[in-house]
Amino acid sequence: MNKILLILAASCMLISNACTQTGKVLTTTTTTIPEASQDKAAPSNAYPKVVEKIEKTPEEWQSILSEEEYRILREAGTERAFTGKYWDNKKEGTYYCSGCRLALFESDTKFKSGTGWPSFYQPIDEDYVGTKTDSSHGWSRVEVVCGRCDGHLGHVFEDGPKPTGLRYCINGNVLMFEPFKK
Ligand SMILES: [Zn+2]
Repeated sequence: MNKILLILAASCMLISNACTQTGKVLTTTTTTIPEASQDKAAPSNAYPKVVEKIEKTPEEWQSILSEEEYRILREAGTERAFTGKYWDNKKEGTYYCSGCRLALFESDTKFKSGTGWPSFYQPIDEDYVGTKTDSSHGWSRVEVVCGRCDGHLGHVFEDGPKPTGLRYCINGNVLMFEPFKK
């Protein structure tokens, strides 16, 4: 009788051990796979119906962004005028956030501002860009941030062309351009 009990107890321990181990493996799998696929899936999810915020730690951002992208997006930096990407790009296509690949602007709303930064009068979708009041440098400006990853993109001013009268002055080094597919 005791023997049977021992065997039962032993097999229970084995089973529970096996379960715990499987559980561990499963937990690890479920926490790593969505994280990795989220980054990979981001480019195909450039036009979400509802924008779901992406939050990462500074270390996580550092691991996926270049130093320049990190400085601008995460530390509200600015590239020097006429030195960044796309200020003079006249090709037709879409500009994405280089932090999260959200589609931000299209070439038909880009205009020549003479500032040395890519300038647009309207974003693709109002929900795709956010604004914040920026009181740094002694005067009040309106900061433009990515609607999904909250990364700093540039500033918006009210001296733009029709129809909006707005000038989204954006750091080209945090944009990714993709020509329209023909
Ligand atoms: Zn973004």
